[in-house]
Amino acid sequence: MTEKIKSYNGCTTVMFTASHNGNFKNKCSDNKKHNHKWKVVVFIESDKLNKEFVVKDFNEIENLKTIFHKKYLNELKVFKDKIPTTEVIGDWFVDNINECYQVIVYEGKSMFWKFWDKRNRYVICYGKNKRNKYE
Ligand SMILES: [Zn+2]
Repeated sequence: MTEKIKSYNGCTTVMFTASHNGNFKNKCSDNKKHNHKWKVVVFIESDKLNKEFVVKDFNEIENLKTIFHKKYLNELKVFKDKIPTTEVIGDWFVDNINECYQVIVYEGKSMFWKFWDKRNRYVICYGKNKRNKYE
């Protein structure tokens, strides 16, 4: 019997509201602190299951929102020496979740979830070299 190479994939979403200052004109609000809601869709992959026989405890990922929720992102240590743009937020998730190989980060204009704005802006960050394969 041939041995198959397995891959387990999962996806969950982290949502938080926070403020930031993009420190540049046009994209956000012309160098002023302002609010957004962010929705980070986190894609994970592993070639093995953990000791609980799942690819990852999704609660562990979803709880990461407490780092960002209702915070002023420019003041967070995790973004030291960086401007917390949507791209930088995406990078943080790719870098800090071992099994994560991709995130889609949606940036919403309003703080209210029921009013998701029609611009539907998002960035996709990949971290292919960080994949948890064949460890
Ligand atoms: Zn902004």
